Amino acid sequence: MSLNLLGLNRSQFEALCTNMGEKPFRARQMMRWMHQSGVADFDLMTDVSRNFRERMATSAEIAAPQVLRDTTAPDGTRKWLFDVGTGNAIEAVYIPEGDPDDEAPAEQAAPRRYRGTLCISSQAGCALECSFCSTGRQGFNRNLSAAEIVGQLWHASRSLSATLSVERPITNVVMMGMGEPLANFDNVVAAMQLMLDEHAYGISRRRLTLSTSGIVPAMDRLREACPVALAVSLHAPNDALRDQLVPINRKYPIRQLLDACVRYIEKAPRDFVTFEYVMLAGVNDSVAQARELVKTVKPVPCKINLIPFNSFPDSGYTRSSGPAIAAFRDVLAQAGLTTTVRRTRGETIDAACGQLAGQVRDKTRRVQRRIGEVRA
Ligand code: SAH
Ligand code: SF4
Repeated sequence: MSLNLLGLNRSQFEALCTNMGEKPFRARQMMRWMHQSGVADFDLMTDVSRNFRERMATSAEIAAPQVLRDTTAPDGTRKWLFDVGTGNAIEAVYIPEGDPDDEAPAEQAAPRRYRGTLCISSQAGCALECSFCSTGRQGFNRNLSAAEIVGQLWHASRSLSATLSVERPITNVVMMGMGEPLANFDNVVAAMQLMLDEHAYGISRRRLTLSTSGIVPAMDRLREACPVALAVSLHAPNDALRDQLVPINRKYPIRQLLDACVRYIEKAPRDFVTFEYVMLAGVNDSVAQARELVKTVKPVPCKINLIPFNSFPDSGYTRSSGPAIAAFRDVLAQAGLTTTVRRTRGETIDAACGQLAGQVRDKTRRVQRRIGEVRA
């Protein structure tokens, strides 16, 4: 299999050029062609010598995962299903806000200012088994390579540029699709370095968000290797409940997680962490739990994002009612916590948070084990 250039960060690409007897700046030139102009054909890179282009073409390729399905919802949300081989598929979702024809400065047209967010996947499946997550239910198959992670952004940018009038259709990236990004650390960091690189996507650290269920040692490593905006999936105000909903909590309980958040903020591009909290009816959505949550998060400068649960077949959970979510939010807001309720987007195409199912061949045979348990 030839080397896929989409996954090389700048230093890796420069090393490749040097090894091939070329100047390192060739890497920057080719990166701009690939990532900024969406070019996949070496022949189109006209400012690179023909000889070098030909040598590259024989040893390397520029290839995003193959698209199996491309669906757009009435609200403009668009979802791609990508084939990543051996029966595995992953998903990426584009969520536009504001008017794509209105790129006026924020102060002139704040409410309508365009923002395009791409939510991308980091693994085929996920090993962490959060009880309310459809990706977790499918089990884990494998980590995505850096090229497969960046390939989602490359393909989405290219496709959107062909149909939208905006110069940069994707202004924000969130690592919130399928998988636990910190469980695929090296590939995710290499991919994020490309997203941040001015010769590639040039996304600012504040507009690149990684969401984690709380793998504490990896949060410390991320702080050193590639600090970006951080979202942490909290979902419960105490360990007893979080142990049930987010099983990684048994290894890294809330106290340790919050300490890691405080350490992270020292180097982070934003001076707060966003806590995600999925609203599950009758499970974690009472007013008493909201009050407990206020006390729990006190040590961490934070914002809270309440996510109405997105259901999937046989989930066993239901979404909290509108009034329950509002009452929960009010308790947090009255305690001075900035709290938002995530608008559900793209529901008609199953593109909402936690619904990204793709299709994963579970190597761990967890599905079979579960079926066995049910039958026993
Ligand atoms: N593995 C990472 C990132 C991917 S999940 C993490 O867990 O943070 C992105 C977000 O969607 C997480 O906050 C996750 O808890 C949430 N989520 C998962 N399933 C969901 C569902 N069915 N409804 C709403 N949110 C869900
Ligand atoms: Fe994995 Fe995140 Fe789903 Fe938990 S919520 S199973 S960590 S993808």
